[in-house]
Amino acid sequence: MTDNFDVIVVGAGASGLAAAVEASRAGASVLVLEKNHVPGRKILSTGAGKCNLSNTRVTPAAYHGASAAFLRKVFAALPPEQILSFFEGIGLLWTEGEAGKLFPRSMKAQDVVNVLLNELSSLAVPLRTLTEAVSVERAAGGFVVEAQRVPPQWEKKGRRGEREAFRATRVVLAAGGPCYPQIGGTSGGYELLRRLGHTVTPLSPSLAPLKARCEYLKELDGIRLQAAVTLLAEGRKLARSEGELLFTAYGVSGPVALDLSRAALAALKKGPAALEADLFPDYGARELYSLLHGRAEAFAQRPFSHFACGLHNWKVLKACAARCGIDWQAPVFRAGEAKMEELGLLLKAFPMELAGTLGFEDAMVAAGGCPVSEVDPATFASRRVEGLFVTGELLDADGDSGGFNLHLAWTSGILAGRAAARK
Ligand SMILES: Cc1cc2nc3c(=O)[nH]c(=O)nc-3n(C[C@H](O)[C@H](O)[C@H](O)COP(=O)(O)OP(=O)(O)OC[C@H]3O[C@@H](n4cnc5c(N)ncnc54)[C@H](O)[C@@H]3O)c2cc1C
Repeated sequence: MTDNFDVIVVGAGASGLAAAVEASRAGASVLVLEKNHVPGRKILSTGAGKCNLSNTRVTPAAYHGASAAFLRKVFAALPPEQILSFFEGIGLLWTEGEAGKLFPRSMKAQDVVNVLLNELSSLAVPLRTLTEAVSVERAAGGFVVEAQRVPPQWEKKGRRGEREAFRATRVVLAAGGPCYPQIGGTSGGYELLRRLGHTVTPLSPSLAPLKARCEYLKELDGIRLQAAVTLLAEGRKLARSEGELLFTAYGVSGPVALDLSRAALAALKKGPAALEADLFPDYGARELYSLLHGRAEAFAQRPFSHFACGLHNWKVLKACAARCGIDWQAPVFRAGEAKMEELGLLLKAFPMELAGTLGFEDAMVAAGGCPVSEVDPATFASRRVEGLFVTGELLDADGDSGGFNLHLAWTSGILAGRAAARK
């Protein structure tokens, strides 16, 4: 293999694979370096293995960190629906789920990685795994990228640290962020950026599960339900999210919790904050009360457990009943009107004290990174280093849950790959 390329892509993740495909299609000689033993490892874990690869409702409002003006220019350069054309063009059919979420038709993240790798293989693009770029330096006519061999975990006597230098006219930095280090997430890419003269704003976990305090969490651990959760501080409602909520022993997770995590961290920096979960979001308060009241009359002589059975998740009802002082085994009429009303209020506003968020190990994406003002929105070319392109999570632009982060990763990769291939 020659060690001189038009384009070197650092990182075979979402944005790097897309960049490599587009740069090679545009006629550039491309080399992809990947430190993991498999490419696209993080993609395989997305959407719980189904890969929520984009969304039909992509707008600047779904993103944080980057300005709306920057994102409008990005989506003008590559209209969001063209991501689907890109995937169709490499053989991937897709399907739409709830809330505009887009998935591969097979519902398998592995197929998303495979179509990208098949395309790179048919373009004869070399992809070096277990090869970490440890330095990217400007040199006459472009860059020198120094790479180090990463011994695989199973190779006890691996040739550690063997180094190799590659030259390229342009470099696409697509090294991703620090989330899920257990599958290769790293902040090493930010270090490469800093050394090249870019700014890196402080990183924090975003789309992370929330730690909460509530005496019933252990009993509720593992329950998934539809809920609307409100974030509160000093009696004010700061944010609200509706959808699937997962109770865990440490707090709450699921899309609803993840979407609140950014606001939750910001609120906790200022003081105490709380969560209130509406566990009957499809019922108004009055509607719920008349449902409970009618049911209480119908089940008056029967144990409260019979009243609860079939109404909602019984563990949730048992926890709420305990909190209201309702005896689970006693006949329903003993609870009385006041306790039944209290139960209704609790189901509409189940309180939890917010204790923080989990860290990068459990977060989907990092907030912070290279400010988008340092790249061109139409090409993702660095405004500081000629010939350098910065894509994906390295940028300070994180999206809501629902496919928005991968969408921006593909978009930035495609635009950067095309531009990097231009002579
Ligand atoms: C569990 C989980 C689930 C998620 N689910 C979704 C979802 O359903 N929908 C969605 O939109 N987003 C989801 N995300 C977020 C999404 O995966 C990321 O936003 C996206 O992968 C970022 O793309 P990227 O190209 O910037 O980085 P990555 O896809 O992380 O790729 C970066 C690659 O660079 C490699 N690398 C790093 N440093 C070097 C180096 N120095 N040399 C060589 N290689 C290097 C890494 O090993 C990695 O393979 C999820 C994230 C996680 C952790």
